Amino acid sequence: MKDVSKDEEGAGGMKDIIKKLVETYGPSGSEDRVRDLIRDEIQGAVDEIRVDALGNLIALKRGCRGDGGAKLLIAAHMDEIGVIVTYIDDSGFLRFSNVGGVSPFTLIGQRVVFANGTVGTFGREKLDDWKDLKLDKMFIDIGAKDRAEAESRVKIGDVACFYREMTDIGGKLIAKSMDDRIGCAVVVEAIKRTKGIESPNEVYFVFTVQEEVGLRGARTAAYGVNPDIGIAVDVTTTGDTPEAPRMSVKLGAGPAIKVKDTSVVAHPRVKNLMIEAASSAGIPYQLEILDFGGTDAGSIHTTREGIPSGVLSIPARYVHTPSEMVDMGDVEGAVKLLVEIVKRPLAGSV
Ligand SMILES: [Zn+2]
Repeated sequence: MKDVSKDEEGAGGMKDIIKKLVETYGPSGSEDRVRDLIRDEIQGAVDEIRVDALGNLIALKRGCRGDGGAKLLIAAHMDEIGVIVTYIDDSGFLRFSNVGGVSPFTLIGQRVVFANGTVGTFGREKLDDWKDLKLDKMFIDIGAKDRAEAESRVKIGDVACFYREMTDIGGKLIAKSMDDRIGCAVVVEAIKRTKGIESPNEVYFVFTVQEEVGLRGARTAAYGVNPDIGIAVDVTTTGDTPEAPRMSVKLGAGPAIKVKDTSVVAHPRVKNLMIEAASSAGIPYQLEILDFGGTDAGSIHTTREGIPSGVLSIPARYVHTPSEMVDMGDVEGAVKLLVEIVKRPLAGSV
């Protein structure tokens, strides 16, 4: 364990909850444990908590709407990527498919864990060329001696996620599922810091399900809440590593305010209200254009007759690997910006 220095204290105090969140099992469709953890954390800090039919956790902070306030939905997704068992062979090896965006190259040498605690690692068929590595050339080895033993521990349709502890390397953290448990942690912390503070807005903090398989939970949550404004909190990739794709977002340069990704063009007024909030609170920020990938805002903004939406991004390196890296300064900046947005009268913004 590393000591937390004084200047890291704000976000440093979040490291325990971040560790719990990232180490919890929760692939898409199996978010229960993450939901229970978050519910315990925010109990008493919001006015109402409910779970909708798909499993989204919806927490309401009542405000004094009508006095310049708006109905604001803030979403962070609870699910993480994983692998799903499709076939068990006579020797007890498991064939699998992806749940969300999983590259075969990120699996070699890794371990995964199933809901019941069964741990496995990955093997592959012989290849003439590494470029031929595909998920269907791979298998999960849980150490079973035959099909019967494997089936006593794992069934067709069981889902596993990466099995990894978080590593604290000082100002930065490395873990699986920073996408998007770091977003969940940011929203949880914003809820705690606004406890007892009267907001002009009616704020729905929504922890969504099934983002990684198609932004699905956010769609029904947004329909049910019917907000004036939607903001998704999620990770974005960076362009600051050797020969990275050209992208201006850097780790450690502050949270990013999204301009566009493949799922959404941020509504200009939502983007601008985020920029104004950051500027007036003196929070460093970056503008983000992501050439691949989307977030919950992609489904929120096309719900009903259209909901102006934007995204607050936490820069992360090595997204969708078991070692996603974030900077605690960016995390703290994201919390501060979210708190600032919750406190501002937003009715005139959109
Ligand atoms: Zn995500």
